[in-house]
Amino acid sequence: MSLTETMLSRTACAVNGEWIQADSGKTIDVRNPANGDVIGSVPLCGKEETARAIAAAEAAWPAWRAMTAMERGDIIMRLHNLMIEEREELARLMTLEQGKPLAEARGEIGFGCSFLRWFAEEGRRAYGSVIPAPWRNKKMIVTREPVGVVGIITPWNFPTAMICRKIGPALAVGCPVVIKPASQTPFSALAVAELAKRAGVPDGVINVITGSSKEIGGEITSNPTVRKVSFTGSTTVGKMLLEQCASTVKKMSLELGGNAPFLVFDDADLDLAIPGAMNSKYRNTGQTCICTNRFLVQDGIYEEFLERLGKAVNDLKVGNGMEDGVTQGPLIDESAVIRMEEQVADAKKQGGRIVMGGKRHALGGTYYEPTIIADATEEMLFAKEETFGPVAPVFRFQTEEQAVKLANSTEFGLAGYVYTQDLGRAFRVSEALEYGLVGVNESLISTCEAPFGGVKESGFGREGSQYGLDDYTVLKYTCMAGL
Ligand code: ADP
Repeated sequence: MSLTETMLSRTACAVNGEWIQADSGKTIDVRNPANGDVIGSVPLCGKEETARAIAAAEAAWPAWRAMTAMERGDIIMRLHNLMIEEREELARLMTLEQGKPLAEARGEIGFGCSFLRWFAEEGRRAYGSVIPAPWRNKKMIVTREPVGVVGIITPWNFPTAMICRKIGPALAVGCPVVIKPASQTPFSALAVAELAKRAGVPDGVINVITGSSKEIGGEITSNPTVRKVSFTGSTTVGKMLLEQCASTVKKMSLELGGNAPFLVFDDADLDLAIPGAMNSKYRNTGQTCICTNRFLVQDGIYEEFLERLGKAVNDLKVGNGMEDGVTQGPLIDESAVIRMEEQVADAKKQGGRIVMGGKRHALGGTYYEPTIIADATEEMLFAKEETFGPVAPVFRFQTEEQAVKLANSTEFGLAGYVYTQDLGRAFRVSEALEYGLVGVNESLISTCEAPFGGVKESGFGREGSQYGLDDYTVLKYTCMAGL
């Protein structure tokens, strides 16, 4: 399948309802990670085009915010419905540029759309309050207002869902957006822009700019018209954006890296823990920010866990995500494979025991074998860095106290998982974990109804749920006197 076979592929940027090329006429190639083929190109835009997109968003703002939440909600629902209708094609486009198995891509479209549906309704519940005044004849009114033009910078691992999760609440409360998708996966973003146009989203409300991260990011973070930046990506880039946003004091949401621990106690039910481990480690070939980075397993169950995990990993099928039955696609690019090689070499050097995999896959390219490494230690790179690939290091612990300490000994704090049958322990450990999300006997916990986000250097802000509007609204207190 090639790009031209999909009707939703757009090779221009969306600015103010028009499809534009870069001022320079330059483009960047997009490759299929399954075989390295160039599938198409998108404009290499920079500062100027971004400034125009921001100006278009600003111009679109007054009319968009003046609509009722229900009117905006109707438009968001139309976008939702169109995306569901085009689910198959959007999924194919995603697999083509991202590499994930088609079944996962279909799942991601559904997941992304669920945020549009949720926020189409939730916008109607952007309640304020009336506070009893400490003075006579005065009223104290608190309203929630749209923050303004939002800059959205998204990663390649969930090319559609990360956009939906941000535009859902932004649009619902009345904010226009300028989106910069990852250069590896721009087509999924441009397809959303096309469908938004068909859904009747007014010109300038959703703009998508592809091209130079530095230039586009630089303009988004320094332009005073942008009042908020929402970013999902690496902690390194997130910190840079936070610094850049300081000069104009923008509101921010940062969904950054993780180093998720997956704790398995002696009393765990392995019939739950093994499927949980597989989902949390190998989904999207290990390339999600809530993927397990470290398995922490209690001594008494350690060998049995390893053996059963090994059997499950053996059933994974590596290959092109377009092929039936494939559960593990390629890694996004060569640098991702090099990172696996570095972490595995480091583990081996420090006494790690390779139980499965441990090298590039025979398919070549950016395929890497699903890997399990036993006898992992705190000195190894996995303990400090995010892995973002199909490598599972398994650490051993003796006591609950040790497990909690080990789990928290990272600067990250996004997701953590606990497997135990002991109710008291489930409460104690989940409370002790310094993480924004905790799964107890479950590893698939993301859903539009729940708040998603981290603590520590995994960032701040929450996406989804009743709290998800907060990131896109500001409180205004009005004191009415002379009544
Ligand atoms: P990942 O490790 O997921 O590739 P990155 O943080 O590198 O994460 O990328 C996430 C998003 O941030 C992408 O859209 C990328 O293009 C963008 N990005 C990378 N560097 C910068 C930068 N200097 N300024 C703004 N955006 C950037």
